[in-house]
Amino acid sequence: MTSISNRLQDILATIQLAKLANHRAQSVNLLAVSKAQSALAIREAYAAGQKLFGENYLQEALDKQSQLADLAIEWHFIGPIQSNKTQLIAQHFNWVHSINRLKIAQRLNDARPETLAPLQVCIQVNISNEESKSGVTQQELETLASAISKLPRLKLRGLMAIPEPSNDNNKQRIQFKQVRECYDALLEKGFTLDTLSIGMSDDYRIAIEEGATIVRIGSALFGARK
Ligand SMILES: *Cc1c(COP(=O)(O)O)cnc(C)c1O
Repeated sequence: MTSISNRLQDILATIQLAKLANHRAQSVNLLAVSKAQSALAIREAYAAGQKLFGENYLQEALDKQSQLADLAIEWHFIGPIQSNKTQLIAQHFNWVHSINRLKIAQRLNDARPETLAPLQVCIQVNISNEESKSGVTQQELETLASAISKLPRLKLRGLMAIPEPSNDNNKQRIQFKQVRECYDALLEKGFTLDTLSIGMSDDYRIAIEEGATIVRIGSALFGARK
């Protein structure tokens, strides 16, 4: 077995264990974050059974997608989105996790080809409220969710967040809980959602315990980024 394959099996086993600590018994999908990794590394993970891959930078992603066109990969865009990138993102991805304003959502909607299924999207929520972090505030969330729900070429699936990094597990847990509370509040208001995209290499166990349904894992799977 290759090391990517070994690490993939370890991560999947850890996900199963963490799920036992979550009472909601929902499924948890692994999104392999392949930014700064080669097409060859993606191919290796794919051969080991991984089908969902996340990329942050459009041009890098398009280059790798063309090298991997023979594989049935589900591509997720998880990076910051500038408006001049929306057309290519709408054409080349299945999912977008990082929607943080209506203008971006509208442009993705308008550019989504009719030949493809609606673009599956999450709204990125700013939990730590740091100036530097992208995402909507909890106050802005419901308005944006309502507006996105009306866009026919997008399908709102849930929320994504990148909490402030911390070595303090309890601090991470509190931030994940906050995202889940936002998610539950939307469910209560009648939105049909099934996706909570939280948790990365260093904290995905905690994220799953707090209700993650997608964990976005890069370095724990591929090794450190160059
Ligand atoms: C890079 C990145 C990840 C993965 O980070 P790791 O710590 O390598 O697992 C997850 N989500 C987003 C949005 C990222 O940019």
